Amino acid sequence: MTEVPHLESVPTVDKRVVSERNLDFLCVPRERIVEIVTTSGTTGQPLLWMLTDADLRRLGANEKLSFDCAGLTASDTVLVATAMDRCFIAGAAYWLGLRELGCAVARVGPSSPAYVLEVMQRLQPTAIVAVPSFLRLIAAKAQESGIDLCQASVKKLVCIGEPIRDRSFALNAAGRALEAASGAKLFSTYGVTELANSLCECEAGRGGHLHDQQLFVEVLDDDGRALPNGEVGEVVATTFGVEAMPVIRYRTGDCAALFREPCVCGRVTPRIGPIVGRKNQRLKFKGVSLFPSALQAVLDEADGVETFVIVATAGNELSDEIEVLVHGSASEAGLRELLQARTKITPRIRRASREEIESLQLPPNARKRRTFVDLR
Ligand SMILES: [Zn+2]
Repeated sequence: MTEVPHLESVPTVDKRVVSERNLDFLCVPRERIVEIVTTSGTTGQPLLWMLTDADLRRLGANEKLSFDCAGLTASDTVLVATAMDRCFIAGAAYWLGLRELGCAVARVGPSSPAYVLEVMQRLQPTAIVAVPSFLRLIAAKAQESGIDLCQASVKKLVCIGEPIRDRSFALNAAGRALEAASGAKLFSTYGVTELANSLCECEAGRGGHLHDQQLFVEVLDDDGRALPNGEVGEVVATTFGVEAMPVIRYRTGDCAALFREPCVCGRVTPRIGPIVGRKNQRLKFKGVSLFPSALQAVLDEADGVETFVIVATAGNELSDEIEVLVHGSASEAGLRELLQARTKITPRIRRASREEIESLQLPPNARKRRTFVDLR
């Protein structure tokens, strides 16, 4: 990986600072801006992010490298089933990258599984780029319509925005269900608007390959020290070649591990493992520190759990209060034992109605369903 001498002496910058001084980060005159996007706003007010013409070309070049990792070529026909509007950077980046690769692209969007299926029947695409939960809806619609997706033309699913693997790179419950329903190979991709960059897995599925001519990544602990290979910490990144809003040592708030050994695919660039959570969502429970994703992974796979939500409230200095609301036939004692065995913690478990759980998962004005509610 490219080394940046003395970089550790430069202070890091986090989202709070960037948010407070958003447009102070603009480094070119406004007349050079050609594209304006916003972040998704999962953690607070969305940031405004601006790109010059060269930044857009860099974005396309980055996405081309990402899709190349997934093995897409000019002979692929790809459905982009993500939002192209609402100022999201991702849809535009995919379109630019696929165009660079020379793929045939159909922007089917993320709103109607029935429409995507209809286009699939007519176009016989070879790949789809989408959020895994939307791909699951397409699979459900196909089953309802008597269409066997495993016999369909789509061989690759590029998954964005939601995890499909656990920390050991194995497919999680959602990933396995999607693979079984589609018969396609899954590729996870991770991107950050403020870095104008995305990383996609290769066939080996062992982390997203970093394009180190565009981005330098460090994984740091809470005290800002670099963590060894394979240890989970905060992803901190420095962009190369960005004109409008470059960042140096930007704390993304996402936690993952960096893997520096060469990949079996032959690429020697470092890889970023699955995102295990947001740094500010990390829970502490009687001396154990863990991310909600560890609990979610167990509950997703537990027998007799139809739906659930994890609620964290402020406890004392050493421990948060964690309650899991569950609907289904699973017993409280059985779930407690399972969570203790797999995560080393035993949160309070309470049976609840589907309605109560859904009201917490999807409060008014929420943009997406959540299974972790942070009230700390
Ligand atoms: Zn690889």
